[in-house]
Amino acid sequence: MGRRLTQLMRAFQPQPVPDQRRAARSDQVRNSAGGFGFALQPFQRLERFLILGVDGPTYYASARQLVLENAACVTECLRLDGPRTVHTIASLSEAGRAPKNDAAIFALALASAADCDRTRRTALNALPRVCRTGTHLFQFTRDAMNFRRWGRGLRRAVGRWYTEKSTDALVYQLLKYGQREGMSHRDVLRLSHPVPRTPAQQALFAWLTAGEGRPTEALPEAVRGFEALRDPALANDVKAVVALIRRHRFTHDMLPTTFKRSPAVWEALLPEMPLTALLRGLAQLTSVGLLTSGSAATKFVCQRLTDAAALKKARVHPIAVLSALRVYGSGHGVRGSLTWTPVPEIRQALDRAFELAFHAVEPTGRRHLLALDVSGSMGCGEIAGAPGLSPALASAAMAMVTLRREADCRVMGFSHRLVDVDIGPTDGLERVLKTVSGVPMGATDCALPMIHAREQRLPVDVFVIYTDNETWFGGVHPYKALQQYREATGIPAKLVVAGLTATQFTIADPHDAGSLDVVGFDAAAPAILADFARA
Ligand code: CA
Repeated sequence: MGRRLTQLMRAFQPQPVPDQRRAARSDQVRNSAGGFGFALQPFQRLERFLILGVDGPTYYASARQLVLENAACVTECLRLDGPRTVHTIASLSEAGRAPKNDAAIFALALASAADCDRTRRTALNALPRVCRTGTHLFQFTRDAMNFRRWGRGLRRAVGRWYTEKSTDALVYQLLKYGQREGMSHRDVLRLSHPVPRTPAQQALFAWLTAGEGRPTEALPEAVRGFEALRDPALANDVKAVVALIRRHRFTHDMLPTTFKRSPAVWEALLPEMPLTALLRGLAQLTSVGLLTSGSAATKFVCQRLTDAAALKKARVHPIAVLSALRVYGSGHGVRGSLTWTPVPEIRQALDRAFELAFHAVEPTGRRHLLALDVSGSMGCGEIAGAPGLSPALASAAMAMVTLRREADCRVMGFSHRLVDVDIGPTDGLERVLKTVSGVPMGATDCALPMIHAREQRLPVDVFVIYTDNETWFGGVHPYKALQQYREATGIPAKLVVAGLTATQFTIADPHDAGSLDVVGFDAAAPAILADFARA
């Protein structure tokens, strides 16, 4: 793929040097593709980083380079306004706007190492808001130890993460996330050695940190049930295992793997299965024969997947749903040999869940033109580590949310020319992804949607461009093409740029109140877009 693209890019090199490769204004900066655009302000860039993360390279930049650039951006925000930076990190993480929490944890760890006392304190106080699970806490501990020494403030904050939880919540975290990311609660407790506040905490900490012969009296009942599951006498007693699961509401990650082949065990797990685990476990549940067309379990799962309030509470991100839909619909695992026959009702429920996972939004009634960048660079990289989910595919799915909602809404594709993207509001997501993956790619000219609309006299109130902002090919800068459209039609059209990679670049003119940058895979993006369209 890479070589074909390189050849493709080279094929366009002999063209006369177009205007996008020269700065039109002194506030423009050169992007990674050699064209000129604008730079995001530090706090805008912070949001982009927190939502998109830097899981992998983009077409133009390595992952390492992007991590360094974004770390510098977080440091810059901390210097400008530490408490505001921490507030941004914590509120965005709490609202579940990012597909992954990793970037928020990384940024919070940086904040916990800031020079300013107040910033460090604010960061450490925000720890339980950002680090909601044991895995998050392990990630934070590892990141923080890279940035600062293990001092009293950090030790206390991490200790409070344990001691300020109710016994039930603490037991759940200890049993569910025993060991992740090469770290365990035992490691973290030994680093932070918190003073227990209750006899139950005392018993739990001793249980985790003591070696052989640790005392089991005074331990909460669920922990004793957890130990009982590991008793060799129980190995062939499915009934007893099922009874323990029901009684203590165990999740699948609290069980020894030997039990996970039994349909009866999965049936017992299903009622209390957290939504994120359910999304990941659909294949397994189908493969063991629990989910079949029309079964009671299938009805239950579909109802759970389309429960908007539950999706919100569990912070299920649309990209996680999209990723689950792709894998589930394929009928075979990405790794490993698991195969299954996808159940149609489950596929439909996932399609519905994708929309429900966004923050709620009403139609605006404005005339929209959604323009998908299908240039070569958009086919590279994976969103939130989802295998094969390129920015081009994921942005097409995001565009569907607006396409299905707004009555007057066109969709088009562009690279260095207009590209026919045959998708409509009634298409299922799986079909949309298939259509977009078959679109021919090319070089990048982000001005084309506005030029096309002007030439065709299309009435447009809001242009939405889904792009990585690496425009370079065209003869007219995108912001100028927008001005020309407004002048020619008399419509004060707005431009929303949905940025899809964590770079500093944008095609939106920062001095134009009618232009807005949103982060492409922000769960709040369609709502932010609609508010801006209405204003
Ligand atoms: Ca491109």
